[in-house]
Amino acid sequence: MSDKTFEGTGTCMCGKVTYQATLKAGAGACHCGMCRQWSGGPFMAVHATGNVTFKGEQYISRYPSSQWAERAFCKNCGANLFYFLLPRPGLPDGEYMLSAGSVTEQKQLNFDNEVFIEQAPGWYQFADEASRTRLTEADIMAMYGEGN
Ligand SMILES: [Zn+2]
Ligand SMILES: [Zn+2]
Repeated sequence: MSDKTFEGTGTCMCGKVTYQATLKAGAGACHCGMCRQWSGGPFMAVHATGNVTFKGEQYISRYPSSQWAERAFCKNCGANLFYFLLPRPGLPDGEYMLSAGSVTEQKQLNFDNEVFIEQAPGWYQFADEASRTRLTEADIMAMYGEGN
C-alpha cells in the first residue's frame, strides 16, 4: 500500500459538515457485511493520518456500530461521513476512515486496496485486481488484532 498523503478537505452532500485532514492518497474498499449494509455496496474509504478537524459537528450523528468503532453520517442530508476506529492501546487517537465520496480532491485518490474480500457477495467485481493489495479478514486480524 502506498504511503503518499495530501492535505485534503471534504463535505457531506448538503455542506453542513465539512472537514480538513491529512489524507492517504491510496483509497480502499471494504466488502464486509456491515459496510455493505451501511453504504449499499463496498464502503470506499480514505484514511486520515492524525486528527480530522470538523465543522458542523452538531450535524454529525455517530452510531456505535461495534465495541471498537463508530460510523457517522450527516443528520441533515444522511450522507455517510466516516468510520472511526476508537482509541485503544497502540492507537491512542483512534483512526478516521472517511467516505471517499466526501473527499473534495478526487483527483488525488487512487484505488489502492480491498479488504474483507472473502465477504464480497459475488455479484460485483472491480477490474484490474492485480494492481491492488487484497486482504481477507484473517489477513487483517493478523495485522491489527481484533476489530474491523
Ligand atoms: Zn449533510
Ligand atoms: Zn467493512
